Amino acid sequence: MVYLTGAGPGDMELLTIKALRVVREADVIIYDRLANPDILAEAKDGCEFVYVGKKDSHHSMPQEQINETIYQNALKYKNVVRLKGGDPLVFGRGGEEGIYLRERDIDFEFIPGITSAIAVPEYAGIPVTHRGITVSFRVVTGHESKNKEQSQITWENFKSDDTIIFLMGLHRLKHISKKLMEIGKPKDYPVAVISKGTTKDEKTIVGTLDTIWELAKELPTPALIVVGKVVELREQLSWFEQK
Ligand code: SAH
Repeated sequence: MVYLTGAGPGDMELLTIKALRVVREADVIIYDRLANPDILAEAKDGCEFVYVGKKDSHHSMPQEQINETIYQNALKYKNVVRLKGGDPLVFGRGGEEGIYLRERDIDFEFIPGITSAIAVPEYAGIPVTHRGITVSFRVVTGHESKNKEQSQITWENFKSDDTIIFLMGLHRLKHISKKLMEIGKPKDYPVAVISKGTTKDEKTIVGTLDTIWELAKELPTPALIVVGKVVELREQLSWFEQK
């Protein structure tokens, strides 16, 4: 059995009880850079660890090879845990891993994780929805494939005041801000960038569409971008970084 498991956004205590159980029972854990390494300390003696991490857009191992690694381990071991940052199906490529295994008759289960898209803003005191401010939120990849001529993102969709959360977008922050101003958002529209969210190194920088690029360019990854009026609530709701 392969458990395609969400490790949560960073804070070890945001791991689900189910994920913790399969980690403790695992014969092998195949893990990412984004998964908190303290989780591995929960594994039983003799558990094997396989690192298949990627750093942002730089794939240290191509997805096809990760799929094959999971498959080979599934042939060898009874309990295989594929541990992925956040939720396995939110830009986690867990779906591709599931399809690869299904095609080879390997049983799998998805174990949802707390996604950084919601939890990281929450630790920074930014609710992704708030009554009277926004009625929906979108989670978008900020990392567009370089070899595509055209943008895969339909920028026109972002004209409303929905909260927009960009994952994998720090290196494209200037481009993202520019695009949002082009479709008519004011240049003083609120933006936050949160780095290493839910960990002791969490850092948040708040700015506007025209300033954030300059303010946040030095922040370390992983980082996500929140665009929307909810960012202003941080003044009243910030809690974690004060600790
Ligand atoms: N499956 C993951 C997301 C994978 S995409 C999830 O559900 O959380 C990787 C992106 O997630 C990073 O580029 C970054 O934008 C974001 N991310 C993940 N962990 C983060 C953290 N602790 N702090 C800030 N951003 C994070």
